[in-house]
Amino acid sequence: MRIGLDIDGTITRAPEFFAFLSKVLMAAGHHVAVVTHRMDRRLTEEELAEYGVQYHELILPEEFDHEIAEWKIEAFEKMQPDIVFEDMLDVVNGLSKSIVSFVPLSHKQGELQYK
Ligand SMILES: [Mg+2]
Repeated sequence: MRIGLDIDGTITRAPEFFAFLSKVLMAAGHHVAVVTHRMDRRLTEEELAEYGVQYHELILPEEFDHEIAEWKIEAFEKMQPDIVFEDMLDVVNGLSKSIVSFVPLSHKQGELQYK
């Protein structure tokens, strides 16, 4: 399988879980890509190393003249994932329907919310 992981609001919500998940997926021969709309590759690599998140590729924008959700949809689609973990509903809604997406939820005042 090919797995796409978002960082902010996704990996950052449960870094230990994603460290475990990424390690297990890669050990089992699956492809893991981290897709993030961040500017600094080096700082992002350092942060992921601190979390213990492993990956085959880290995909960042080369330019910043686009809308975030549009860029992310294109970046995820390009890596042809089977499964995506992403906290932006605009991104999830824009992905091909064949891609299974997981969105983190929170409890706030007794109600489930997607942020
Ligand atoms: Mg995010």
